Amino acid sequence: MDALDAKYPFFAAAREAVADAAVSLPKLVAADAPAVERGRERVERALMDGTVESESGTFPADSEYDVQAELLSYPIARILVSLLDSEPAIEKYAAAEAATAVDRVRDDLAADDELRSVSTPTVALDDVLAEFDLADAVRPDSPRRASGAGSGRDPAHYWVDVGPYLRLTSPSWGASWRLVNRALADGAVRVSREELLDALEAAVEERVREGLPFELAAGEGIAAELEEGVADLKRLLSERSYAGPIDVVAPELFPPCMTNLIEKAERDTDLSPPESFALMAFLVGIGMTPDEVVAFCADTSLDAEGIRYQTEYLKDDRGTQYPPPTCETLANYGICHNEADHMQVAADPLAYYEKRVAAADEIADWRDREGDEGGGEGDEGGGEGDEGGREDDESGDPGETATPDEAE
Ligand code: SF4
Repeated sequence: MDALDAKYPFFAAAREAVADAAVSLPKLVAADAPAVERGRERVERALMDGTVESESGTFPADSEYDVQAELLSYPIARILVSLLDSEPAIEKYAAAEAATAVDRVRDDLAADDELRSVSTPTVALDDVLAEFDLADAVRPDSPRRASGAGSGRDPAHYWVDVGPYLRLTSPSWGASWRLVNRALADGAVRVSREELLDALEAAVEERVREGLPFELAAGEGIAAELEEGVADLKRLLSERSYAGPIDVVAPELFPPCMTNLIEKAERDTDLSPPESFALMAFLVGIGMTPDEVVAFCADTSLDAEGIRYQTEYLKDDRGTQYPPPTCETLANYGICHNEADHMQVAADPLAYYEKRVAAADEIADWRDREGDEGGGEGDEGGGEGDEGGREDDESGDPGETATPDEAE
């Protein structure tokens, strides 16, 4: 087992390493080995924060877990998420594994050749492409310099064959991903390096998603051993998902991170997948239906089809299934700027909004304003509603602008 296997546990080599080690997972669970706690943390962080990185720090540099615990925590996490018996949980888990993996790839690529060391093994982009059978489907925009040690950084743009491009990307990521808006030549689509990483994230997600959920007889064998951990995760999910649903849409009380994302989309700028996920999770989290989110975002770069896809996935028939990522995760993505240090007040944007709503004297729900204006649905409605929020803001009604600090 080496650190690279543990960093990318879904790679074929890592799976072989686990098989070669011939470790008995049931015995590991029975012995309550560190891999079990790390596996539980992996799932918890995935569902709550959209990452599987340990809270103790980034692997391998800062994490308290060693290579074996980190590597074996992956199959344990897959068993745990299977036992949760929830399709959205599996989707969220796979997405978090993929997001973490691509963050690690990004860090590996950013490391200068000279700084790459044996003690901190890194992957090259070619390794990742080969892992997903994309070596022939992705070509640098301009020929690389002659290969060899220290041959330099990866290029800024690539050409991706149309087939893999369509399989790994989604129009729901924004208009710029649509084929009609892309440079196309010789059956290949031009993408930036960052966009290629987004596509690779989708490939990782697909790989992680494969084979889940496992068929495991409840109450027997490893499922019985993991029962307590599964119960904890379910409890956590229900507490985070259903405690005090807000169901109030007051754009003037949105946290700055969400307001910034909405304003960015209103400038017709595409949101990155994490940005779009955070915004959709927030809007669904405050009780908006897919139709309402579509209307609310009518004058933005977000298209109705993509919004519907994401919001359906985020909701179940009891309400919001998953909260938006935490402030800490949003800060890591550069989405949160923690204005006035208000991260001290709440751990996630939904909790922050909840406090602002609780502190406000009077709130006019955007949906009621919509109804009053006769906008109802469609483009006009969304635009007016949005403006409505800002007009209220400008009116300076002190009752509606209480800060969460005041709510404390
Ligand atoms: S601290 Fe939290 S709520 Fe505030 S802007 Fe950052 S992510 Fe949003």
